Amino acid sequence: MNRFEDQNLELGDFTDKILVLCPNCSNPAYVLAKDNQPRLVCHHCGYNRQRKSDDHISQLYGVPQDPYFNESLYLVSQCCGEILFAYNAAHLQYLKDYVSSGLRERNKTNPQMKNRSLISRLPQWIKNRNNRTEILNKIQQLEKRLANLLPHS
Ligand SMILES: [Zn+2]
Repeated sequence: MNRFEDQNLELGDFTDKILVLCPNCSNPAYVLAKDNQPRLVCHHCGYNRQRKSDDHISQLYGVPQDPYFNESLYLVSQCCGEILFAYNAAHLQYLKDYVSSGLRERNKTNPQMKNRSLISRLPQWIKNRNNRTEILNKIQQLEKRLANLLPHS
């Protein structure tokens, strides 16, 4: 049985590079947000937009959109009557590790992080073991979408 140790990562730890749908051509594009000036870049049509510094940053982490431009995410799937989404490959892997692990541990070394960590904020349907098979199937589909994408971007 695999063990999953909550590394107390937050969704914000996955926002450096977010896969979205280009608002111009609907192909996969990237929101690059390593610095304070997030940028939406599309390799298909050349769309390139920089976030204005006074633009509101959405904290709507429960919705399948990027928090900087509010564009639709690329890695989204209907799952268990809900919406499963990931910002990027690392985020998807993290969810996969979590869902596939038999024993889920909360990292207790840092109590202040307790309610901020991504795992503690995961919706109940993702934590529900009865949904495990379906969620893992959907994650696998998203991994395929990702695999098809990477050589071209
Ligand atoms: Zn485009």
